[in-house]
Amino acid sequence: MIEYIVDGVPMVLQNFTLAEARCHGLNPDGSTHDCGLIILDPDFLLCLGLVRAEYDHGIFMSSWTRCLGHNTDVGGSDTSKHPLGRAGDLMPIEGGSMPRLRRICDKVFPYREHHNLFIHCDVRAK
Ligand SMILES: [Zn+2]
Ligand SMILES: [Zn+2]
Repeated sequence: MIEYIVDGVPMVLQNFTLAEARCHGLNPDGSTHDCGLIILDPDFLLCLGLVRAEYDHGIFMSSWTRCLGHNTDVGGSDTSKHPLGRAGDLMPIEGGSMPRLRRICDKVFPYREHHNLFIHCDVRAK
């Protein structure tokens, strides 16, 4: 669970943790990057919560917050929304339907890129 505050109002995002939101992953040389940076964006958290509620199955976030250095290391673009905390790469945990997750993400997130193993979703302005 992630608790946060928007304009003084306490909010809760169920089913996800700060550990998942922090900048971490693999470097190009296979070593581990884990700087711990966390940026929470209320628009992104709202969409993520809506997707998770409708999907009703576990979602693995293969990438969420990224510091600028890690974004460059993993080949993210200069205009990537990951360093703003406004993007996430979603995939079903074992047993979940990828086509169904794609349909829900298409409905909820303003911007998506469909990859084989994950769905990049962000809340950039339309
Ligand atoms: Zn980092
Ligand atoms: Zn992404």
